[in-house]
Amino acid sequence: MSLLALSDRAERARTPSLLSSEVLDRARVLDTLVNNLDGMAFRCGHDATWTMIFVSEGCTALTGYTPSELVASARTSWEALTYPDDRARVRAAIDEAVRCGRRFAQQYRITTRDGDIKWVLERGVPVADEQGSTVIEGFIENVTEQRAMIEALEQAELRYRSIFEHASEGIFQTTREGHYLAANPALARLYGYTTPQELITDLSDIGRRLYVLPGRREAFRRMMETHGSVRNFESEVYRNDGSRMWISENAHIVRGAQGEFICYEGTVQDISERKHYQEQLERQANHDLLTGLPNRVLLGDRLSQGLARAQRLGYYLAVVFIDLDHFKFVNDSLGHAAGDHLLQEVSRRLSACLRQSDTVARLGGDEFVLVLNDHYHVSTIISLLERVLHQIHQPISLCGRSLQVGASLGVALYPDDSEDAASLLRHADIAMYAAKDRGRHNFQFFTRDLNRMAEERLHLEAAMREALEGDDFDVHYQPKVDHRRRIVGVEALARWHHPTLGPIGPDRFIPIAEETGLIAPLTTAILRQAFAAARRWNAPGEPQLKMAVNLSARLFMSADIVSHVLGLAREAGIAPQLIELEITETVFLDHSQGAIDSLRAFKHHGFSLAMDDFGTGYSSLSYLRSFPLDIIKIDRSLVTGIEREEEGALIARAAISLGQSLRKRVVAEGVENQAQFDFLRCQGCDEFQGYLISRPVTEAVLSEMLAGGGVVPRATQPPGPPSR
Ligand code: C2E
Ligand code: CA
Ligand code: CA
Repeated sequence: MSLLALSDRAERARTPSLLSSEVLDRARVLDTLVNNLDGMAFRCGHDATWTMIFVSEGCTALTGYTPSELVASARTSWEALTYPDDRARVRAAIDEAVRCGRRFAQQYRITTRDGDIKWVLERGVPVADEQGSTVIEGFIENVTEQRAMIEALEQAELRYRSIFEHASEGIFQTTREGHYLAANPALARLYGYTTPQELITDLSDIGRRLYVLPGRREAFRRMMETHGSVRNFESEVYRNDGSRMWISENAHIVRGAQGEFICYEGTVQDISERKHYQEQLERQANHDLLTGLPNRVLLGDRLSQGLARAQRLGYYLAVVFIDLDHFKFVNDSLGHAAGDHLLQEVSRRLSACLRQSDTVARLGGDEFVLVLNDHYHVSTIISLLERVLHQIHQPISLCGRSLQVGASLGVALYPDDSEDAASLLRHADIAMYAAKDRGRHNFQFFTRDLNRMAEERLHLEAAMREALEGDDFDVHYQPKVDHRRRIVGVEALARWHHPTLGPIGPDRFIPIAEETGLIAPLTTAILRQAFAAARRWNAPGEPQLKMAVNLSARLFMSADIVSHVLGLAREAGIAPQLIELEITETVFLDHSQGAIDSLRAFKHHGFSLAMDDFGTGYSSLSYLRSFPLDIIKIDRSLVTGIEREEEGALIARAAISLGQSLRKRVVAEGVENQAQFDFLRCQGCDEFQGYLISRPVTEAVLSEMLAGGGVVPRATQPPGPPSR
């Protein structure tokens, strides 16, 4: 109800008994009130120009016109003051209020006397006047300032909205519990939704649906609650389609004026690319480029993690050193590309054998290391290793051929063998060498004995280097005789008498020399002495004496073995025709083309080739036939016991007849008694070597034997200084 109406009616209805002076007084108070209001009270007709019947003093401040200028439209009408664009709207609203007999409120513009535009708020009510016609009573106030403020707010809101809508970063508001209150289109896009609304509805539980790592949301929440904000909070999250991405979040708590919690608010950035790049760098630093396996650096990490875990849980941890057998031959003969391919295939197979928690690392070359975690029994480790050996042994197709590779595995166990990473690795390495010694393609566990042997080996290696420098290796010669006991040749055998360790047999130092590469200088030293002795024994006029020397299969890995041996023979002035090269069949085992070429070249230069230790290995007939061998040496183990055992005799007989049928000269070694000699001679052996004839002796002793006619008499077996 309008103010005027109220004052009017109040007087009439509620105070009928008041005196007129009181009535006037109240009218004056009201008048003062009305005229001092910031705004204009009015009564106007419901007509085309809103003809003012009454306006209060505030009219002047509001419009610039005095009340008398406005009442009865003396100077201007209210319709004229109303801003033309707003007239229709205002009239429609008031007409409607009149029709329904309701109050109304309208904001519109007026033009003041000075031509200023002001925003006004008109609140009014239609009432019937004394004549019963409808008039409007009400109050009009200046709201230009509020209006400007609201507009500014609206503009600001619009601007923020625009930032929110168009930002390239995802923006969100969530509850503490992890429900979205708001999300912008960028966030929806980031997470793979078409609209923010879709995201808000679908991602109802952020903690469980968004983060890949369980507990990540909880970590976020904890930081928010303790610090009020998080900075660069990086997490991996699931997108709508299930794919993963990396994000970085910056967020803070929004609080109301009283400090009450309103929401979490923050931004989300897609950092997948940076993460990817970081990961790539990390991978490069921690992984082997060829196979993608962890490298030595990462192996160290994994091993210490594994050890901490094993210690905590009381499990075994196994470190397994793996070395591929004869890898170098593949690399040398089929080329590096084939070698690379083989390594990649092996690493795939190794990975496939292991569980997620285990590690397979490549140390370089053909060396791999496994770290096996969480084993409660050694037996499960063993079955795993059997599976590994089996998998590695499956044929691999390389350069169009199918190839089988073996591997030697050495195992060290935590806590049994050692407690720290470095010694576990060292012990596994030692055990791996033991596996190689035991004929390859097997696994060996580290033992204290192995450790002692390994230490001794290290010690011997150092001593051997010294001995080579000091030229401390000697050569003894063991004669070979024909069936009439005439000395036809000798075998040169390396001897080493260490000043403090005493005599060390070749069975001990040759394998170490082969592993350490010392075999090359050692062979040179032995060959020099042997060739020089051969030269002295084959002076012009003397009966010819063949010099047999042993060449390790290892030496055939280098291409210049032929020119090297040839050079030594020339240096000593001895013809290759007087030299027999004893090799073992491991030379053929890898079918290395290089080794076969070397054998042909030796043959071409006039050297004789002897297969040593015949009958102990694989003795495949195919290479006996196809390679240019001259001699086969029946191994000592076949000779031992032939005079007593039916079966032994049978094998020896078969070996001899095989050699004969291939037209090779057959030499029996390790002949220790007359019965053996007689048996072998009957079977058609060509030459005999063994303690029955002579132990290996010094050059001087052998020279004496030769000077005595070169026939070793039957009864007088020369004792000689036993050299083994
Ligand atoms: P091998 O080539 O089979 O040499 C024959 C071995 O049998 C020699 O042992 C010799 O002393 C021994 N022997 C000879 N007659 C008899 C016998 O009647 N009874 C018994 N029980 N043994 C007999 P040694 O000198 O200890 O050499 C052992 C192995 O060391 C050799 O076996 C050979 O493989 C290797 N070796 C020795 N010297 C050299 C060398 O200069 N270079 C290379 N690469 N290997 C060598
Ligand atoms: Ca030999
Ligand atoms: Ca032998």
